[in-house]
Amino acid sequence: MKTTHFFGIIFLLLCSVISAQAQTQIITHRGYWDKLGSAQNSLSSLDNAIKIGAYGSELDVWLTKDGVLVLNHDESFHGIVIQTATFDTLSALRLVNGEPIPTLQQCIDMAKKQNTTKLIIEIKPHATLEANVRVANETVKLINKNGMAGRVDYISFSEQVCKELIKLNPEHRVAYLNGEKPPKALKAEGYRGLDYAWKVLKEEHPEWIKEAKALGLTTNVWTVNNAEHMLYFISQDIDYITTDNPQLLKGLLTK
Ligand code: MG
Repeated sequence: MKTTHFFGIIFLLLCSVISAQAQTQIITHRGYWDKLGSAQNSLSSLDNAIKIGAYGSELDVWLTKDGVLVLNHDESFHGIVIQTATFDTLSALRLVNGEPIPTLQQCIDMAKKQNTTKLIIEIKPHATLEANVRVANETVKLINKNGMAGRVDYISFSEQVCKELIKLNPEHRVAYLNGEKPPKALKAEGYRGLDYAWKVLKEEHPEWIKEAKALGLTTNVWTVNNAEHMLYFISQDIDYITTDNPQLLKGLLTK
C-alpha cells in the first residue's frame, strides 16, 4: 500500500471517529418525568432517564436547614421554604406521584449502579452569599465522598455558586445557565461550558455555539421540547440538548 493511501485511510477513520463522538447527546430535564407514574426531580424520573440511556439526567438541588441536599425545582415544597426547613419536615410530604422528596445521596446511589447516565447537578441560587458557598461545598463534598467526581456536571444560574465550584477545583465541569455571558467571558472565568436557553442560542446569539466550541467549551441548550428546535440545534452540532421530551429527541438523533 502506498504511504499516501495509508495516511488517507487513517485520516478517514479519524474523521469518522470524531464525527461519531460529536453527535448531540440527550439530557433529561428534571429526569425523564413525563411518563406514567413519575414526577419531576424524582428517583423514578432518574431511573427512566437511565433506562433510555440518556447522556445525563438534570436535577435541581437545595440544601435544607439541617444540611441535607434534596431535589426540588422550586424554592418551596408544599409551601415550605426548603432552605429554612429540616429534612424530617420535608420527608413527611410527597411528590405528585406519591414518592417522598429524594435526597442527592439517593440519586448518587442509583447513578452509581451504571456507567452511561451522568448526573447534571443544578445547584439552585440560595438566599445569601454564605448559603451559596455552603451549598456548593456540601454538594462537592458529597460527590467526592461517593467517588462520583468524574460522573457529574455542575450547572447554576448563580455566579456565586459557579465561582465557588470552580474555586474548589478548576477541573469541575461547571456550566453557566443565565445566558448573558459571552463564551469568551465564560472561558476567562474558568467555566467548562455554557448551558443557555434556546432563545439565547437560536435568536439572540446564534454565533455563540461556534464561538464556544472554538474555545473548547461544551455547549448545552435548555429546554428544547419541539422537533423544529431540536433539529436546528442538532444541525449546529450542539453537544447536549436538555429536554422534557427525550424520546422525541432520541428518534430524531437515530434518523
Ligand atoms: Mg433545573
